[in-house]
Amino acid sequence: MSNQNLKTKKGIIFIMSGPSGVGKGTIREEVLKEIPDLVFSVSVTTRKKRPGEIDGKDYIFVSRERFEEMIKNDELLEWAEVYGNYYGTPSNIVDEAIAEKKDVLLEIDVQGAKNVKKRYPDAVSIFIFPPSVEELILRLKKRATETREEFQRRIEKAKREMDEVIYYNYVVVNDKLEDAILRVKCIILAERAKIV
Ligand code: 5GP
Repeated sequence: MSNQNLKTKKGIIFIMSGPSGVGKGTIREEVLKEIPDLVFSVSVTTRKKRPGEIDGKDYIFVSRERFEEMIKNDELLEWAEVYGNYYGTPSNIVDEAIAEKKDVLLEIDVQGAKNVKKRYPDAVSIFIFPPSVEELILRLKKRATETREEFQRRIEKAKREMDEVIYYNYVVVNDKLEDAILRVKCIILAERAKIV
């Protein structure tokens, strides 16, 4: 193998999915702290901001009109309607990261992951799995950020999404948070060390 193979290595797109309440947000924050040269793709959403969320860091919060304009202007790499709200990945963040050979992390749902994989088959997908459905229900109840109806919708979607795990490259069970963070970090570092 020549050094050229190492020099031409492209940036990697990492996709993280998992049911609502599984702990993706916390895992993402810790992984980004510990792997600082990983770019997080901040999604655009029309959903209301939750307490503690920061506009521009957790999501870019926009109106439905602005989101629809972004669809029309082809500003999104992928988008989906989830629980009655729009969510989408701005193309520019991913394009810039790729151009600069940087790795980028997308936290998106199963539909979004499928669409990104179609466009970027080399993207590395990680599914965060709850220890059990019962545990997921408990965690969502504890978070208490949803109305009763939204809560039910999220549980139903979670059950359907969990069947999709077979389409992912990796699965990480979030039984103990520190272990799950470590496993996600290890996956990213191992993928970076792969020889192209
Ligand atoms: P939440 O409202 O709990 O933050 O997110 C709801 C769901 O939308 C989660 O499954 C999350 O991964 C997904 N999501 C967040 N951003 C995006 C995005 O840009 N595209 C897609 N397809 N899904 C997203």
